[in-house]
This record gives sequence, C-alpha cells and structure tokens, in this order.
Amino acid sequence: MSESTALIVVDDIAKAYDFGASHPLRPERVLITYDNIRTMGFLDDARVVEVPSRSATDGEILAVHDLVFVNAVKDIDTGMAPTGLGRQFGLGTPDNPIFDDMHVAAAAVCGASVRAAELVATGEAQHAFNPAGGLHHARRSEASGFCIYNDPAVAIGRILSLHPDWRVMYIDVDVHHGDGVQWIFYEEPRVLTLSLHQSGRYLYPGTGFENEIGRGDAIGTSANIPLLPLTGNEDYLWALEETALGLAEAFRPDVLVVQLGADTHFNDPLANLGLTMPAFPPMIEILHRCAHDFASGLLVATGGGGYQFETVVPKVWTMHFAEMCDVPERIPHEWMDDKPADEVSKPYRNEVEASVREVLGACVPRLRALAGSAP
Ligand SMILES: [Zn+2]
Repeated sequence: MSESTALIVVDDIAKAYDFGASHPLRPERVLITYDNIRTMGFLDDARVVEVPSRSATDGEILAVHDLVFVNAVKDIDTGMAPTGLGRQFGLGTPDNPIFDDMHVAAAAVCGASVRAAELVATGEAQHAFNPAGGLHHARRSEASGFCIYNDPAVAIGRILSLHPDWRVMYIDVDVHHGDGVQWIFYEEPRVLTLSLHQSGRYLYPGTGFENEIGRGDAIGTSANIPLLPLTGNEDYLWALEETALGLAEAFRPDVLVVQLGADTHFNDPLANLGLTMPAFPPMIEILHRCAHDFASGLLVATGGGGYQFETVVPKVWTMHFAEMCDVPERIPHEWMDDKPADEVSKPYRNEVEASVREVLGACVPRLRALAGSAP
C-alpha cells in the first residue's frame, strides 16, 4: 500500500466545464486552488504526485446514469436534438444553461474523479483529490443544480466495479444536500451516504431530512443532518464528528469518498449557514481521521460547491490538500482571519443533537448488520 497523495491534473477540464461568465460556478475556484498548491510547495514532497486525468468511458457513466439521458446530452452537443429536448433532462434552465461540448466536459469531470478513485482503490495512492469534481446534484436521468453528470457517483460506481465486495462511505459537507448521490444509491446496501447541509426547508434542493434513510436492503445507508440557517462552527463540527465517526465505526467502509463543497461559509452568496474560516481545518481533520481510523486510510476527495471563488473556496480546498499531505501547518495563519463566530451564527445545539441522535439511532444498528458485526 502506497502512502502517497495524488492530485489529479484538471486545469483544462476546469476551464471546459463552464456555464458562462454570468454563472456562479466559476472555473477560477479550481484554477486558483491549483496555483496555491503549486506555489506553496506541496508537490515538492516525494509522496505527493500529480496524475494526469482521463475521460470517463460511456460504460462508467452509464453505471449510474440512464442511456436516454446521456444520449440526449450528446445529441444536444451535436445539434441533433429536437428543440426543447434539454428541458426534459434539466438542461437549458437558468441553473444549467446549455454550453458547447457538455458531454465532453462532464465526462472529463467524471473521468478525473474516476482516476482519483482508481488510484486509491488499486493501492497506488492512499488519498487522491479532484478539485474539479463534486457535481453531486445530477440524477440518473436529469441534470440539476449546476451538475450534468454525477462524478462522485460515477467514481463510486468505478470502485464497486473494481471491488464488488467493498463497502463505500460517502460524506458530503457541501451546504446543499447531496441528493443526487443519495438517490442514485438509495437502494444500494454497499454505499452509505452522509450529508450535512442547510435544511431543505430553506434551501435547494429541498430534500435531505432525517427520515430519508434508504430503501429495501439499503435501509440505514442514507443519513442526513439538516441544519438551520446560521448554524455555526461549534454545532456543525460536533454534528460532523458524531455522525461521520459514529456511522463509519458501524459500517466499517473499505474506502471513504468525500465531497468538499465550501459553501458553508457564512458569506457564501447562495446559502445561509454561519461557518467562519477557523471551522475548516478541524472539519478537514475529522474527515481525514475518519478515513485513517475506519477506512484503512483510503480517501477519495472531490471539490463541490462554493461561490466565493477568489477567496474562501480555493483556500478551503488548499487546506484540504494540505491535510491530505500531512502538512496542515503550512496553511498561512492569516487565512483564518474572519468575523467572530458568534457575530455570524446562532447556537442550535439542542436541534442539532436531536437530529444526530435520531439519525444514529435509525442507521447504526442497520449498518452494523450490513457490516456483519451485528451484536
Ligand atoms: Zn492521511
């Protein structure tokens, strides 16, 4: 087992997956992250490698998406689609405007996450990061929320094709519910999804409640902590640590896949949680520790949402990479300068505790049974 950390090279992919200059999902988020990682010297460590990406194959995409949807995206690209076809599949909307070569760009994002997953699943690297990925809202047959194809789901599908007997844990810290990944694997007992997000009562996509716990054989493998607007650092980190470690201890995953949306920051223009910069290093440490304590250190990481593209997002993703490289101390102290936490958040410990208790109570016994460790 290699202990190296891989950074997937995606500069060109990040530029190609672009809904246009007026859209909030800015490619600069990824490009500035790369600049940071390269100029701060992380790649000088012999254990850190840059790995070229590749496109996902049709077969890899079709493991989690429907053929009729993928064909529609391709037909729109080539101009063969009838007028208005995109609308049936969530494309051509204000959130998901049509752009040139969507299939190529979306397949490239998926391929970068697949490459990260392959490196980790085959033992070539212990951790791998695709900052261009994390398009977690795409459904089996529908683009949604800036996401055409669901690269975390495609990556998880690739892991299961390499290791059909593995259990995969997916943790989503984006401020929006990780709905696409949840629904794609809602009846799949080998995939546990955990999402902490601003409650769907107040934010897109309107789902992600405590009672969404999976279906059929997969009951217990979907976990959601909906958070009230203005939830702050302490309550968030408490909930993340309790649920991530509590569920992982019960499910004993073979690999951890994380979606690292950075839109939980209080100043994000599209959401209303109350986190400040000092929340991110401990958040990142919890995820990294979860992989090492419960998943043999195997960690596949993607980017995600986050719309303060020049400031918060590249810093947060650089912090994630620094932690994966075991050099969190290299993050400049001034990156933590922010408003006092109590000025931008409200305490909600009772509400958060109630959610965490309900979800752990519903999921942990089922996960223990699925992991073959039922008492
Ligand atoms: Zn590590």
